[in-house]
Amino acid sequence: MTVEGQRGALSGWGRHPVVVARHRRSENLEAITRGATLSRGLGRSYGDASLPGTIDGTLAVTTAADRFCWFDAERGVVRAEAGVSLATLNRVFWPRGWSVPSSPGTQQVTLGGMVAADVHGKSHHSEGCFGEHVRSVRMRVADERILEVSEDEQPELFRATLGGMGLTGHLLEVEFQLRPMPSGWVLAESQGYGDLESTVEALRSAGSEWPHTLAWIDLLAGGSAFGRGVVERGRRADPGEAPSRLPAPRFPPAIPFVFPLISGTTMRLANIARYWSRRLYRRGIVHPDAFFYPLDVVGWLNRLYPRAGFTQYQVVLPTSAGVEGCRRVLDIMVQRGAVPLLCVLKDFGGEGKGMLSFPKAGLSIAVDLPITDRTQVAVDAMNDFVAGVGGRVYLAKDTLTRPEHFRAMEPRLSAWQAVRRRWDPEARIRSALSVRLFGDPI
Ligand SMILES: Cc1cc2nc3c(=O)[nH]c(=O)nc-3n(C[C@H](O)[C@H](O)[C@H](O)COP(=O)(O)OP(=O)(O)OC[C@H]3O[C@@H](n4cnc5c(N)ncnc54)[C@H](O)[C@@H]3O)c2cc1C
Repeated sequence: MTVEGQRGALSGWGRHPVVVARHRRSENLEAITRGATLSRGLGRSYGDASLPGTIDGTLAVTTAADRFCWFDAERGVVRAEAGVSLATLNRVFWPRGWSVPSSPGTQQVTLGGMVAADVHGKSHHSEGCFGEHVRSVRMRVADERILEVSEDEQPELFRATLGGMGLTGHLLEVEFQLRPMPSGWVLAESQGYGDLESTVEALRSAGSEWPHTLAWIDLLAGGSAFGRGVVERGRRADPGEAPSRLPAPRFPPAIPFVFPLISGTTMRLANIARYWSRRLYRRGIVHPDAFFYPLDVVGWLNRLYPRAGFTQYQVVLPTSAGVEGCRRVLDIMVQRGAVPLLCVLKDFGGEGKGMLSFPKAGLSIAVDLPITDRTQVAVDAMNDFVAGVGGRVYLAKDTLTRPEHFRAMEPRLSAWQAVRRRWDPEARIRSALSVRLFGDPI
C-alpha cells in the first residue's frame, strides 16, 4: 500500500535548517521512490543532506521498508531492504554471532543512510567504511529504471553511490558481508591524558593494537589543559573473558520534547566530571551498546541541544598536518567565538572505494557547535585552514560549508559529478545539500 504524499516540517539531527517538505512513507519502496526527488532514512544526518532540494520535491522515507530478503548463515552475507535500521540488524545478528562492520556512533540509522554516507565507526583504521563490506545494491536511478549495481555491474555507479549522499539514485536493497564475533561483549580500556598532544599520541598508538579506538577531548578546559582527553579502546571479548549470557537488548527512554539543557556551561561541568572520573586507567567487559553507541543512552538526545539547533563540524586532516593542524582548527574555532559542546577524535586509515566518501588517512575531528550568529564565521575560517592543508569535511554532518570550500577540499568532485551527470543529466534527484554545494537548481 502506498501512502499519499504528506507535507510536514522536517530537519536533520541538528534541527537546523527546518523545511516544510512533501514526503511519502510506505513498506513498498518501489512505489514511493517512483518520481521521488530524494530518499530519506531515519534523518540522523545532521544538516540538509536528507532534505529536499526543491519546493515541490518529494521525499521517499524508507523506514517502513524494513524486511530481510535473505541471510546466508554459512558465509555471513545478508540482503535487506534499505529501510532496515542498524538497531534491528544488531538485535537480529548479535545473538547469531555476527556483527555489522564499520558501525557508526548511533544505531538509529538505516542501511540506505549507511551506504549513502558510507559511514565509518571507531574502527576506520582497522576495517574501513561500511562500503568496503557492501557487495551489491538494488537501486532506482533517475530515469526510473531499477538496477542491480556492484563492482561487477555498473562499477562506476556503485562507487559513486558509496558516499554519494543519495544523489545517484534511491537504494532499495543492500547486500553486505557481516563479521563473525567471538562474543557479544566488548573488552574495553580507557585512560585520561592531560593535554591535546598526549591524547592524540595515545589515540594513534592504540590503533596499532586495538580494532576500535576513539578519543573524547575537553575543549572547554583552558590553558595547558585545553584538549585534555580520554582515549577509549576496545575489541570483542573472547568467550573465556565474557559472561556466558548474551548482552540484553536495551530500550532507552526518549526525550519527549525540546528541552535545551546542553549549553557551554553545562558541558563545562560535564566535561570536568567526565575527565576526572575517567582519567585513571580502566579495563573491563562492557555492554556493546555502552561502548559503540554511548549517545543512544536516551532517544532523541538532540532535543537537549539549544533551541536554535546545532551542527556537527567534522573534518579529517591528513597525517601530514600533525597534532599542530588539529590544535590550529580548535584554536580558530574558539577564537571565532564558536562554543564547542562535545568533541571526539578518530584515527582514520586510507581512502576506500567510495568516490566521494569522507575518510582518508589522518585524524578526524568532530565537534558539536550550537547555531549562533558566529557559527558560520567560525566554520568559514576553519574551512579555509582545512582546505589549505588537504583536509575535508563530512557531508553527513555538514550544514554550513560553502561550495568554494568544498571544491577546494575535494579533488575527486569533478569525477564524481561526471558519473552523476551520466545517470541523471538534469539532476532530478537532488537535496538541499546538493543545491547548496553543487549548484543544483532549486
Ligand atoms: C548521534 C550520531 C552519531 C553518529 N555517528 C556517526 C559515526 O560515528 N560515523 C558516521 O559515519 N556517521 C555518524 N553519524 C551520521 C549517520 O551515520 C549518517 O548521517 C547516516 O547517513 C544516517 O542514516 P539515516 O538513515 O538517518 O539517513 P538520513 O539522515 O535520513 O539520510 C542521510 C543521507 O542518506 C541518503 N539516503 C538515506 N536513505 C537512502 C536510500 N534508501 N537511498 C538513497 N539515499 C538514501 C539521504 O538522501 C541523505 O543524503 C552519526 C549520527 C548521529 C545522529
